[in-house]
Amino acid sequence: MASVELHNIHKAYGALTVIHDISLSIEDGEFIALVGPSGCGKSTLLRMIAGLEEITDGDVSIGGQVVNAMTPRERNIAMVFQSYALYPHMTVAENMGFNLKLSGETKPVIEQRVNEAARMLDLTKLLDRKPAQLSGGQRQRVAMGRAIVRNPAVFLFDEPLSNLDAKLRVQMRSEIKALHQKVQTTSIYVTHDQIEAMTLADRIVVLNQGRIEQQGTPIELYRKPANLFVAGFIGSPA
Ligand code: ADP
Ligand code: MG
Repeated sequence: MASVELHNIHKAYGALTVIHDISLSIEDGEFIALVGPSGCGKSTLLRMIAGLEEITDGDVSIGGQVVNAMTPRERNIAMVFQSYALYPHMTVAENMGFNLKLSGETKPVIEQRVNEAARMLDLTKLLDRKPAQLSGGQRQRVAMGRAIVRNPAVFLFDEPLSNLDAKLRVQMRSEIKALHQKVQTTSIYVTHDQIEAMTLADRIVVLNQGRIEQQGTPIELYRKPANLFVAGFIGSPA
């Protein structure tokens, strides 16, 4: 696991500034939920941490090292999206091992890591199946498996459960929390689901129009929202 630091991050698309001077320190092993309404900049921020999006101004550090110039692969992070984009023609095992293969790992190493991840995610019996033969939850677990085989220091989640039905979301929520603890990563979890943020996160960061409105533990935000916007997001469900 590794700490993540954002120093005065700005992001503009042409004349449109979507992230305004965001600074944030995330500790080793912490689970952060990044919440806020659609379009407030959550995905953009995550993609800049991942190295998938250029930073207009500011620095991202991972494990104390500025990573602005590093490729996503070099940053040792893993990202899980809501659309899990598994390769349909590959088996579960092949999907999970694919990134390792690209990195030039040997077959025995790939097999060992895939088996280990499969045990963690209860996928051992499904390793020979194709994605089309899996349920939505199983596919999402394969996507997580594909991410954890690389032993990432940081896990980035972008609304990973929003395509699943309510019951499955609850189940996957606890699986994600268990995974975070087992793999011992630092996790940044984007969601617009208040309950998900409250139950998963050590700390919640509320974003609004590219700025941090407030950050704190779920209890702090729930008891002392800084303003109506935060209260509307974190307050007790009506
Ligand atoms: P969120 O994930 O919180 O819904 P995004 O980070 O996707 O928000 O988007 C933040 C803002 O940046 C939005 O106004 C969006 O329209 C804009 N945006 C995102 N990607 C691009 C892009 N490639 N080009 C121009 N504007 C973009
Ligand atoms: Mg988004």
